Amino acid sequence: AVPVLAIDGPTASGKGTLATELAERLGYHLLDSGALYRATALAAKDAGIALDDGPALAAMAANLDLRFTGHDVFLNGREITHPLRLESTGGMASQVSVHPEVRQALHALQLGFRRAPGLVADGRDMGTVVFPDAPLKVFLTASAEQRAARRYRQLIEKGNSANIDSLRIDLEARDARDKNRAVAPLKPAEDAELLDNSQLSIEDSVVQVLNWWQQ
Ligand code: C5P
Repeated sequence: AVPVLAIDGPTASGKGTLATELAERLGYHLLDSGALYRATALAAKDAGIALDDGPALAAMAANLDLRFTGHDVFLNGREITHPLRLESTGGMASQVSVHPEVRQALHALQLGFRRAPGLVADGRDMGTVVFPDAPLKVFLTASAEQRAARRYRQLIEKGNSANIDSLRIDLEARDARDKNRAVAPLKPAEDAELLDNSQLSIEDSVVQVLNWWQQ
């Protein structure tokens, strides 16, 4: 089978940065599964579908016309690179993702990313649900304080305004929803390696994961 390196963890734990770097060094494909939930949320907003209407959301998720070209993302031909990354979109994605029908609809789409020579998959349930046979599963964590501080820096660097206290409140609320949902709750797979990167540089984390991968 095509090998999968699964990286799961809470909001702003650095999964995206780590997964992107690993995919580049290994020459593997990359799946940013959160982007699928985020795009579903944006599409629902456009179509006027309520975030609690599971069946309608799932029907739409099953027909998402989503294209990734380099750093840009297109939904139904329209560029959504910027709105996709907004904190408010992450919050809506978390509401969309509680519906089992939506998760089911996005499941097949995610499996389609598993192509030779390999895949680095970033999300909440990559190791537990979508790729349970992944030879390496990493569960990445960092303190809420660190995660809020990192997200704050990212936003400021991009010229946005941000408030660190409200960022922390939002990310803790999102984590609580992701952990407490009935289907595919956020938690480490039983065979996951736990990596707390609160005190690690990006390079330290990359080296640690590559060491596990090569074992
Ligand atoms: O990782 P990201 O912040 O882009 O994810 C947005 C939201 O999508 C998460 O808070 C979570 O609710 C949902 N998600 C999920 N399963 C995944 C990836 C993301 O439920 N595999």
